[in-house]
Amino acid sequence: MVDKVYSEEDSYFPHPPIHRFTSGIYPDFESLMYASQDSLKSRYPRYSRFGTPMTDTVECEITRLEGGYRSLSTCSGLAAITSVLMSFLRPGDHILMTRSVYEPVRCFVMTYLFELGISATFLSADEFGHLEDYVTDKTKLIYVESPSSNIFEVTDIDAVAKLARLRGIATIIDNTWSTPLLLNPLHHGFDVVIHSASKYLAGHSDAVMGIITTTEQYYEPVRRYLIKSGVCAGGEESFSLYKGLKTLAVRLKIQQGTAQKLIRMLLTHPAISTVISPDLPSHSGHEIFCKYYRQSNGLFSFSVKKPTDQKRDDFLRELKTFKLAYGWGGVDSCMIPFRSPDWMTQDEEQLFLRVSVGIEDADMLAAELSSALSKL
Ligand SMILES: *Cc1c(COP(=O)(O)O)cnc(C)c1O
Repeated sequence: MVDKVYSEEDSYFPHPPIHRFTSGIYPDFESLMYASQDSLKSRYPRYSRFGTPMTDTVECEITRLEGGYRSLSTCSGLAAITSVLMSFLRPGDHILMTRSVYEPVRCFVMTYLFELGISATFLSADEFGHLEDYVTDKTKLIYVESPSSNIFEVTDIDAVAKLARLRGIATIIDNTWSTPLLLNPLHHGFDVVIHSASKYLAGHSDAVMGIITTTEQYYEPVRRYLIKSGVCAGGEESFSLYKGLKTLAVRLKIQQGTAQKLIRMLLTHPAISTVISPDLPSHSGHEIFCKYYRQSNGLFSFSVKKPTDQKRDDFLRELKTFKLAYGWGGVDSCMIPFRSPDWMTQDEEQLFLRVSVGIEDADMLAAELSSALSKL
C-alpha cells in the first residue's frame, strides 16, 4: 500500500514527504476509472480524505508494531473511538464498558448512544472478573480501557476475549496507556485496538490524532464508516506521529525509569496519602498487570490531604518544570487534578493528581516535587 505513491526520488531522503493536496491528479481516464473503483489497490491517491502517502506510512507502521490486519488513522483519539462505536452499534444494542474509561468517551455514550437507544453497563475491574453476569442477548460490544484513566484499573483481557469470542461479541480496547510497545491486545484475541496518537505515540504534545488497528473481519466496516462520515487524519499530524514513533522506545524507557524514581520518593513523603500505579503491589490490578504488560510507563497518580487554596497555590508555584495540563505522554512533565478514584463522586477529603513524567532529569524532578510537597 505504502510504496505505491512514493516516487523513486523520495527514497534518497531520510523521511517520506508530506503531500499537501485535496485531490490526486490522474494521468488519463483509465487510471481515474480504476482509482474510483478500488482506492486501496490503485497507485493514484484519489482525495486526501481517503488517505495520503503519510497516513498510509504511519498506518503501516502501527500495524507492524501492533499486529492485526491493517490500521486506519483519524483526526483524534476520541474520533477513533466514537467512529468505531458508531460503526458497530445499532439501536437496541447493549455494550459493556470500563467504568473509569476516558471521561469524554463515557459522555459520548451517555448522550449520543443513549439517545439512539443503545444501552451501556459500566464495569469496575472486579465486575469484569464476573463478566458473564453482565452479558445479555443484546450485548454487541465489550469496550475496555486498561489500565484505565487516572486510577489505572486493569482488565484480564484474555478472559474478556475468550468469553466474547464464545458469545460472538466484538471486543475493542483503548491501548493508549500501553502504546504498542507494552501490550498487543490483538495477540490476545481482541478485535479492534484504538490509540490516541496525541499521547506517547506522537509524544511531543504537538499533534492530535487517533489510530485504529483491526483484525481482517472488522477492517472494512470501520473503514467504510470513516469514509462515509468523513473522519480522516491530516498530513502534518501524521508526520508528527511518524517522527514520534522513531523515539517512542527511548522516551518510554526514560519516562518509566523516572516515574519509578518519583514513586519511590512519594511513597515515603509525609505529605502523601496514596500513590496509584498498577506497578505497585498495593494496586488491586497489580497481579493482572504483571501477567500482561512488558513494563510500566511514565504515568501515576497520587493524593494528598485536601490543602487550603493558599497552600495548593504555593505547591503549584514551587513546581517550575511540571506544568498544569490535561494532555499526557509528551516529553514535558505535567500533572492534572481529578475528582476521585470513584468515577462519579468528588472526594472532599483528598486532592488527587495524575502525573505524566517527561524526559527531564529524574533527580531534578524528584527534588522539585519533594520541595513543592513540603509546602502542603
Ligand atoms: C487522550 C485520550 C483519548 C482521546 O484522545 P485525543 O487524541 O485527545 O482525542 C482517548 N483515550 C485515552 C485513554 C486518552 O488518554
